[in-house]
Amino acid sequence: MATFWMLFFIFYFELLLKTGHCTETSGQVLSITPNTQEQVEVLRNVSTQYQTGLWKPASPHNIKELTQVHLYVPANSSETVRNLLQRHGITHEVMLSNADEIIEMQMRNESGDPRSGSTFYQRYHNLEDIYEWINRTAHENPTTVKAILIGSSYQKRPLYALKLSLNNKPNKKAMWIDCGIHAREWISPAFCLIFVQYSLSFYKLNSDITQILDNMDIYVLPVMNPDGYKYTWTKDRMWRKNRSPTNGTSCIGVDLNRNFDANWCTKGASPDPCSEIYCGAFPESEPESQAVANFLRSNKDIIQIYLTIHSYSQMLLIPYSCTMDEADNHSELYEMVKQAAENIRRYYRNVYTYGAGAKTIYLAPGGSDDWAHNLGIKYSFTFELQDRGRYGFLLPPSYIQGASNEALIALKTIALKVIEKTQPAAGSPQDV
Ligand SMILES: [Zn+2]
Repeated sequence: MATFWMLFFIFYFELLLKTGHCTETSGQVLSITPNTQEQVEVLRNVSTQYQTGLWKPASPHNIKELTQVHLYVPANSSETVRNLLQRHGITHEVMLSNADEIIEMQMRNESGDPRSGSTFYQRYHNLEDIYEWINRTAHENPTTVKAILIGSSYQKRPLYALKLSLNNKPNKKAMWIDCGIHAREWISPAFCLIFVQYSLSFYKLNSDITQILDNMDIYVLPVMNPDGYKYTWTKDRMWRKNRSPTNGTSCIGVDLNRNFDANWCTKGASPDPCSEIYCGAFPESEPESQAVANFLRSNKDIIQIYLTIHSYSQMLLIPYSCTMDEADNHSELYEMVKQAAENIRRYYRNVYTYGAGAKTIYLAPGGSDDWAHNLGIKYSFTFELQDRGRYGFLLPPSYIQGASNEALIALKTIALKVIEKTQPAAGSPQDV
């Protein structure tokens, strides 16, 4: 037997010497920092010409010198891409060597094996399970939760928002939260589910959430892009856009977060249907963005806070992303995200950066947060949840709770501040 293994190793070692490298069997995520403009061009080329998935930035146009690029390289492109990088003297680090294995594990984890020890909320769920959860949640809480159909997706999947209304106080204001606008950001819908569960379980137990729900109703749209989300579970885990086709091209999908009417399709978005940041044929051309915009327009007098949940990079963003200009209430919003980031650091020892979108990341016109702000929902925010790139879009299920806790404390900080600023406290002289 020992002789067999020795022969095997000799054979394998010779094979390695001959080929000079091991052939990758799993997709990998590489971290690459281009040092020169030439290297920037090479990377832009790699991310468009070869079968790869650009994680960060969202579009090759935003690749720039001395800024980290995160690139998913499938096993079958690995050799070509590595050779190309090497030829141009571009060094890289392997961020994730076993991306395919992680993807497979996260889908398997969904099956709900009771032996895994994780609860329903500590796992990722496919679209069918999320629809079932929406139904169940509304059904089990008939006096406090209502499922509202606000529209449907391109492939005619329903868009349900849950309305949480925990008490009968008249003339309550409201907050809107949407998750899953970008399909591959799985932590986002996971947060929406946890948030609803937390609100229903801790009302009257936790003073912050009680105060928030006593003063406002909360609308939660768990999956704004169901077609894209479904696609990440069945075909391509790295999919970002929705799934609507465009005439004259085989490229599919519009970036829903470039499809709102806020400096629509200017610098930072693309008119090219094949781009990851394709803005669509016209503002609100997509049924998903139109449904959200219509709902917010109809309810703009009661909705005080707009919050949209993305990943990854750990940022708390305020308008504007569509221009370098500051929002009219910039300092007020800035103070809120600053406080929220400080609370995350204090309670969970994690660092979140904060500020106006365009200045903190790059120009991104047509976003829902800027549009909501311009509509008159002055308190408008984008959260980018965990992590900073170690797992990126493939954040393991064991991180769901921690990431959600951070978003929750940021949300509470902001909502309590808005209530304090805009609503007279009970028993104050204004009530007399
Ligand atoms: Zn996103």
